[in-house]
Amino acid sequence: MAAVDTTVLADWVSRFGAAVAEKRDWLTELDSAIGDADHGANMARGMSAVSEKLAAGTPATVDELLKTVGMTLVSSVGGASGPLYGTFFLRMGMAAGAVPELDGPALAAALRAGLDGIVARGKAESGDKTMFDAMAPAVDALDAALAGGASIADATRAAADAAAIGRDATLPLVARKGRASYLGERSAGHLDPGAASTAILFDTLAASVGGGTA
Ligand code: ADP
Ligand code: MG
Repeated sequence: MAAVDTTVLADWVSRFGAAVAEKRDWLTELDSAIGDADHGANMARGMSAVSEKLAAGTPATVDELLKTVGMTLVSSVGGASGPLYGTFFLRMGMAAGAVPELDGPALAAALRAGLDGIVARGKAESGDKTMFDAMAPAVDALDAALAGGASIADATRAAADAAAIGRDATLPLVARKGRASYLGERSAGHLDPGAASTAILFDTLAASVGGGTA
């Protein structure tokens, strides 16, 4: 696959929704350790609203599709993750523009714009124990793989592997952002729930693009 079109992106969104619904209890369990036990419910509710919105048909352009996802998440999910994931998809759509498909560099640039949106909104930095710690290495790995000549499928797989490593690396961290930061040192020893859902986000992207698993 030389480019990712709206059908592939809609498949990604649908796979992400199915995966967060399937892993809902696990995500909630992670959030019960260092938060308020709603991350699985938040993500499942948001993505179910997205799937209802997209049931009418896949929009013709990438920005229309991703902005619909973002706006639906912002309006249907309370808590930190709704506005953060919503902003991610909105900014990704704005960066992509009114085009029918994205080539590798355009996909990478759109994902980076989404990441930048999360940072603009939540001010997370590396090591704060948030979704940033899975997403930033994933976007970096995508860029590096494409720069090295990898196919989009292989590059998204490299991004997914980096997101999983980033998720696992949140385990010993002390949270400095969000609800988990209220726990201070006691937040160490648990995976960050948002980093876990972000690893799912990149795993499902790789699966939709043809890079395997999920
Ligand atoms: P809430 O914390 O409001 O209950 P969720 O449980 O749905 O919302 O989401 C919690 C996740 O949101 C955390 O695990 C973390 O990854 C992410 N998060 C919280 N605050 C921030 C922030 N400022 N920047 C980036 N991610 C954040
Ligand atoms: Mg929570």
